[in-house]
Amino acid sequence: MKKTKQEKITYEPRNFWKEATPEEQKKAMAYAIPYIEFLNKAKTERETIAYTLEILKNNKFSPIGKKGSRKVYSVFRNKTMAMAVIGSEPISKGFNMIAAHIDSPRVDLKQNPLYEDINSSLSCMRTHYYGGIKKYQWVSTPLALHGVIIKKDGSVLNICLGEKEDEPVFVIPDLLPHLAGKEQYTKKLDEAIEAGKMNLVFSGMQEPGNEEKEAIKNYALRQLHEKYGITEADFQSAELQLVPAFKARHSGFDNSFVIGYGQDDRICAYNALMALINNLPDKPKRTMVVYFSDKEEVGSQGNTGAQSIFIQDFISDLLAHNNEDNSSANLRKTFINSQILSADVTAAIDPNYPNVHEKQNAVIFNYGIGISKFTGRGGKYSCNDANAEFIAKVIRIFNQAGVFWQSGELGKVDEGGGGTIAYFLSNLGAEVLDCGVGLMGMHSLYELCSKADLYSTYLGYKAFLQAD
Ligand code: MN
Ligand code: MN
Repeated sequence: MKKTKQEKITYEPRNFWKEATPEEQKKAMAYAIPYIEFLNKAKTERETIAYTLEILKNNKFSPIGKKGSRKVYSVFRNKTMAMAVIGSEPISKGFNMIAAHIDSPRVDLKQNPLYEDINSSLSCMRTHYYGGIKKYQWVSTPLALHGVIIKKDGSVLNICLGEKEDEPVFVIPDLLPHLAGKEQYTKKLDEAIEAGKMNLVFSGMQEPGNEEKEAIKNYALRQLHEKYGITEADFQSAELQLVPAFKARHSGFDNSFVIGYGQDDRICAYNALMALINNLPDKPKRTMVVYFSDKEEVGSQGNTGAQSIFIQDFISDLLAHNNEDNSSANLRKTFINSQILSADVTAAIDPNYPNVHEKQNAVIFNYGIGISKFTGRGGKYSCNDANAEFIAKVIRIFNQAGVFWQSGELGKVDEGGGGTIAYFLSNLGAEVLDCGVGLMGMHSLYELCSKADLYSTYLGYKAFLQAD
């Protein structure tokens, strides 16, 4: 009797450390090293744009519109960007896109932040948090100040204070446990730290013998003027963000994890960028696009969010760049013919809280890139529910490339939930699937990922971008 290879009839995701070749495992470990560097250099959306631009220029990408260039990019308002490698077939037949977001939860300074606190005789800064943070995580931890101040004359002052060893860092002090009984311990966890009490200690010195009112605040203002040439009014036209001052690090006894801030969603952004630029085929068939959006953590609104006109405008420019019809009708057709991975992180099972997941449909560390048919909350509200046909196609691409993959929802049904930019893009007619890395401690100051998943996601994005 002729022997046929028996088809495997069960679905079992494969563990990278158990089944990947030693060479692949070595590559996964090496891949994490420049990734950690990236996390340390790109802690805000603006810094991610600057970092990406440098890499694109080193890889001979040009601003869109430059004649003859097949590798192009466009930056919009310094906070969102898209880049593409133009394929041999018309773009209107559809492109392959990886779409990630480059903003992360953080604590912003208010527009008029500085005040002198009478009780403590200190100058302090008022803050307003951005995105879904657990406020208690942001107190009593070293913070660095990143951002820009646009001066009255329009000139730009880049601020990055607290990253170098010899630079001061900042802290929002937490209450000592000795006196926290009534103020904090009797309250619910999400109420124990009030947003209005997240003021930063800024400075404490004053000029000797100066009898003026608010001497401490004024001394700080004079120092700011001396160092940066700014006045108090310049904070009104500033975007200053407090981010963890610690660096991303290798983690775990076996070195198999990366711990660091902002991996939601810069882990997917970095993977998408590397998937686009590494081992680029001479002339791919389909056009490959990578899109970095902003404002995902607050709903993707505004002119730099995924709901904005930017990505449609970029594809329109891309059509024109490739001498194709960029009429509204053809632009719509182009999106309808396209396939997109919404590249965002998901929640991996945490050893301390396994009960918030349904294990059979959850992502686990070391089992590879995670596919989520839908996100959202409750009865699949506010989600992009990817079409089964498209999921089959993506899985086929991953299997052909030998990519370790798994599928999982963001937690048990009715346990909570979360969204991504997937449905803003599928609203345009493209096939879209949520697909990214499982993290532990998402939205915390130190998110944890597995190097196996980091690397598998890179390989998955690469295979998808280059698929016919
Ligand atoms: Mn995200
Ligand atoms: Mn998020």
